[in-house]
Amino acid sequence: MIDLHVHSTNSDGSETPEELVLRGRQTGLTALALTDHDNMGGAEEFLNACRTQGMTGIAGVEISADVEEGHGTLHILGYGVNPKHPVVAVNLGRVLDGRAWRNERILEKLNGLGLELEWAEVQALAGEDVVGRPHFAQALIDRGHVSSVADAFDRFLAKGCPAYVDRYRLCPEEGIRMICEAGGVAVMAHPFSWEPDEAKLEAGLSELKAVGLAGIEALYSEHTPEQTVALLRVAKKLDLLTTGGSDYHGRTKPDIALGKGFGSLCVPDAYLPPLLNALGSGNPWVYLK
Ligand code: AMP
Ligand code: ZN
Ligand code: FE
Ligand code: FE
Repeated sequence: MIDLHVHSTNSDGSETPEELVLRGRQTGLTALALTDHDNMGGAEEFLNACRTQGMTGIAGVEISADVEEGHGTLHILGYGVNPKHPVVAVNLGRVLDGRAWRNERILEKLNGLGLELEWAEVQALAGEDVVGRPHFAQALIDRGHVSSVADAFDRFLAKGCPAYVDRYRLCPEEGIRMICEAGGVAVMAHPFSWEPDEAKLEAGLSELKAVGLAGIEALYSEHTPEQTVALLRVAKKLDLLTTGGSDYHGRTKPDIALGKGFGSLCVPDAYLPPLLNALGSGNPWVYLK
């Protein structure tokens, strides 16, 4: 069993890359891919832990791409990406700067709504991590402005709410090209979150394949059996490879277990060779046990 979609403290997961590898071993996984949101800061720690623990590991990333009106969220997984490649450094740097800009606007809006809150309180909650809306939500709870994270999102932070601010995202083509240029393989994560209609999804995937998309995440915690079957069908039709992962976040999403998702997920080892094959041999951002 393998898990090719996992978040660490380098984005919004609660465990460090090393802790993830240890948990992976305890769970009996044979391979793991680290896929933090728009961030590859954990790649080296992750691969070192894989070497130490003797587990196959792939350094990856999950890019939140900009979507056209009418679509849901589009996340692109990049596997075996060189985090030091200039195109990666520049693009992920832009995304990070965009977050800093956005965080300032969110705070201004919250303050403008009469909610007292200081930047230092939000930052303290994030520690070394990148500040995101969940930290704002927690800070609002700590101040007594809201009753829960859900309350914070529903009233202030969710899209369309008074303190929502959009952030800079790469467009899908930029994300895919970046991954390919940096020696990686691009795979669309949880494809139905982008487009729930199978025919429309197929058309969209076909266009992205022309840009360099190599696969889709067919096995995923939140997919129904029918959705999994549909994705396997689409992948076969378009000659895309298939991957699978839990989207483990640790305490941040406590219902999702590493490797097992909500309990019934199992990504067989057989899903690994096609991905490794697409990555080619000698990729330094992949550790093969
Ligand atoms: P950000 O990357 O700063 O935009 O924050 C995104 C994170 O906020 C996601 O990973 C979710 O964990 C969390 N989030 C987004 N929408 C909601 C919501 N409606 N309720 C609770 N958490 C949410
Ligand atoms: Zn996340
Ligand atoms: Fe995602
Ligand atoms: Fe994810």
